[in-house]
Amino acid sequence: MSPQIIPRPGILDISPYVGGDSKIAGVDRIIKLASNEGPFGPSPLAIEAMKTAASSAHRYPDGGALALREAIAKRFGLDVERIVCGAGSDQLLSLLTYSYAGPGDEVLYTEHGFLIYPIAAKAAGATPVKAPETNLRTDVDALLDAVTDKTRIVFIANPNNPTGTYLSHAELTALRAGLPDDVLLVIDAAYAEFVGRNDYTPGTELVDAGQNTVMTRTFSKLFALGGLRVGWGYFPSEIADVLNRVREPFNVSVMGQAAGIASMQDVAFQQKCFEHNLSWIAKTEAALHDLGIETTASVGNFVLARFGEVSTAERADAFLRERGIIVRRVASYGLPDCLRISMGTADEMEAFLATMRAFMGASQ
Ligand code: PMP
Repeated sequence: MSPQIIPRPGILDISPYVGGDSKIAGVDRIIKLASNEGPFGPSPLAIEAMKTAASSAHRYPDGGALALREAIAKRFGLDVERIVCGAGSDQLLSLLTYSYAGPGDEVLYTEHGFLIYPIAAKAAGATPVKAPETNLRTDVDALLDAVTDKTRIVFIANPNNPTGTYLSHAELTALRAGLPDDVLLVIDAAYAEFVGRNDYTPGTELVDAGQNTVMTRTFSKLFALGGLRVGWGYFPSEIADVLNRVREPFNVSVMGQAAGIASMQDVAFQQKCFEHNLSWIAKTEAALHDLGIETTASVGNFVLARFGEVSTAERADAFLRERGIIVRRVASYGLPDCLRISMGTADEMEAFLATMRAFMGASQ
């Protein structure tokens, strides 16, 4: 018998990340409100760019994704040399963790933070540590209290998925100021484009202010290219250099680069998606409140519905699924009494709300 090949310690402690379902057996027409995707499909300009790029698919992409980085730099007013692109921002979050944390180190994140953080920490052989939140919001003091001399990285999703809450610029600045200089602060701003609040910034100014803060972004949400896997981050030069050493040589595909550039050019599409989202977040939260269901005040492209009882959340999920509507159970985020609902088209949202009214009516 051949010897058993054993993975490094910690690897088998990882629970695989399970994405939102897109199918229900026996149901033809599905309304998927489970993965915080763009409700309208990609921008028509991005689709055209993909078609054009398809004929170059036999060629390797530009490994440094220069044209895409230049477009990002121009759009957001950033230094092109300090942008690194990834196969989704997930890849950059993982590579940062593998590069800066290892056995004996702690990786700190918030109680209901994004699941990639503990997955990446365990994969790196480091120890994930959770800091408590207050009222489903990141608590800066609790995070700072949880820092030890083993802490190497602090992850904060701003806004956070699945709670939809955010830290203001002042709170984020206080967090950075309270952290030791040798702790890397990773601001995961995947939902930044949806936040219409004056006291919010994605955090590029904190990246510019020092050597120890980075920010990641994605084309999967407002730019509606989740299926292509395109993300990017803004880093101090030393960290960009590290990521360029460890990343896969051609990590963003030919189509991903072309569609990313085109999607940023389609300002009208972005505006439509932004306004649609803002209005449906407000309508959905108000309609759920009318039914006696609590929500957090979400600034993302999803709403967190709090049922208070796990069994009610389970029954609501089952009731929706029986009618072809898939939302996200968030028990794996420590929120078993909640459902997360991504914003769909107007018709999809009307169907969701009508089904919730029927559910609450039937439950009384
Ligand atoms: N960060 C957060 C908070 C997210 O919710 C997601 C997507 N679910 C990501 C990062 C990763 O996005 P992507 O890899 O598609 O860029």
